[in-house]
Amino acid sequence: MNIIGAGLAGSEAALQLADAGFRVTLFEMRPVCSTEVHHSDCCAELVCSNSLKSTKEASAAGMLKHELSALGSVLYRCALDCRVPAGGALAVDRTSFAERVTGLVEAHPRIALVRGRVDGVLEDGDVLFSDGAGKARPAGLPAKAVVIATGPLTASALSEGLARLVGSQSLAFFDAAAPIVMADSLDESILFRQSRYEEEGLGDYLNAPFSKDEYERFIGELVAADRVIRRDFETKDLFQACQPIEEIARKGVDAPRFGPLKPVGLVDPRTGHRPWAALQLRAENREATSYNLVGFQTNLTFPEQKRVFRMIPGLEHAEFARYGVMHRNTFVDAPRALDARGRFVRSRESGYAVPLFAAGQVSGTEGYCEAIRSGLQAAIGVAAELSGATPPALPRQTAYGALWSYATDPQTTGYQPMHVNFGIMPPLPVRVKNKGERYAAYAQRGARALDAYIEALKASGVPFAFGGAAAAGE
Ligand SMILES: Cc1cc2nc3c(=O)[nH]c(=O)nc-3n(C[C@H](O)[C@H](O)[C@H](O)COP(=O)(O)OP(=O)(O)OC[C@H]3O[C@@H](n4cnc5c(N)ncnc54)[C@H](O)[C@@H]3O)c2cc1C
Repeated sequence: MNIIGAGLAGSEAALQLADAGFRVTLFEMRPVCSTEVHHSDCCAELVCSNSLKSTKEASAAGMLKHELSALGSVLYRCALDCRVPAGGALAVDRTSFAERVTGLVEAHPRIALVRGRVDGVLEDGDVLFSDGAGKARPAGLPAKAVVIATGPLTASALSEGLARLVGSQSLAFFDAAAPIVMADSLDESILFRQSRYEEEGLGDYLNAPFSKDEYERFIGELVAADRVIRRDFETKDLFQACQPIEEIARKGVDAPRFGPLKPVGLVDPRTGHRPWAALQLRAENREATSYNLVGFQTNLTFPEQKRVFRMIPGLEHAEFARYGVMHRNTFVDAPRALDARGRFVRSRESGYAVPLFAAGQVSGTEGYCEAIRSGLQAAIGVAAELSGATPPALPRQTAYGALWSYATDPQTTGYQPMHVNFGIMPPLPVRVKNKGERYAAYAQRGARALDAYIEALKASGVPFAFGGAAAAGE
């Protein structure tokens, strides 16, 4: 089959299908052409933060990780192998992670990794392909199924084709990424090493403490600084979950103090008190040679980022390894465009003789682990389709099942890409007042539902390797 896009979702789908015994052609446009945010030609490059979020069992992100582990996700295993310290979160050395995934893809005997841009999908599953020389032409590789996993920065010709396929529901809008600074340019006589409440591992974060005066001067400059895109970020087509820091500050001088600059759980050892506000910096790699400004996605121009962010205590001489940037974010309106198995509902009426699947961010999910999980689920869907077996329905009690049923429920209106969260899970049969106990109950119920799902999937005859060796031949 043809999989388009070797990001998190596409790489996971390819490795799962290949492990299950299917032959896969995986198309990746980099390095022939790149995006505004990718820096390498590796598969599964993490484009912003290096954190895959909390590992705490009684959290939605922790539940998702349990699902990835139980189902045998290849990329999740790679992430564990490339882990760097990050308190209670799973963070990775992004270079090692991407190189490890690329190595697995390239070495797999059933995967052909083809470098070039796909500009369209043809009716027989072949693709319109450009390797950078001349016009796009059919690749000559018809397929029994196609997975589109081209992510939030899907190249424009393919996005236009997607928009035609799903009607006018395919949208492009903006998202924001945080800057990264070099560790040896930071002033550790001002910054202090501490995890919030010290509960998630000692000292995995550097904290920049603000006094009231320093904070107010900083916010004043932040809201007045030059931006790249002059646009009202409160409009409905803005990705609300990833607001640039200057837009948060524009809502009120104290808004960042209750958001990314919140000081709760931190005590400045120099004063013995909680600072007025604090920025947290998280290591980007194993060696902690660079740090990410946590929650500082931004749309400021590069010179303004340098000027304004150097007003943060301890960052006066900061060298920027990477500035924050703004991005497009392409995704389909999943409740109307996709069915429960992730297939485009209008593919048949649009003349396609083969099923077209969507996976990853383009399918309307949001987040690294969600993209990996979505690639894995697309692999199950494709394997079912090609083998003629009927897969069990994904239980809504699981983290991804809840997200996916919300995303593909035609009753969902105004759909925005979403992380897994407890808010979309079915309520517990008995009300549990205590928050910790409630989350633990969600996690336990989800784990039971997942066990039942895995048993049913095994019994269904869908070829799937569960992280093991090849299960079936095509
Ligand atoms: C700027 C930005 C920052 C983000 N930061 C975070 C974060 O910090 N944490 C988090 O959890 N999530 C984040 N996300 C959201 C999301 O989880 C990631 O974008 C994630 O990488 C999505 O995985 P994916 O596989 O869908 O897409 P990607 O990982 O982007 O993979 C898609 C691949 O398809 C390729 N491609 C695109 N078009 C074509 C084409 N026409 N032909 C061939 N190949 C093509 C691309 O080169 C890319 O390799 C961010 C998103 C953006 C845009």
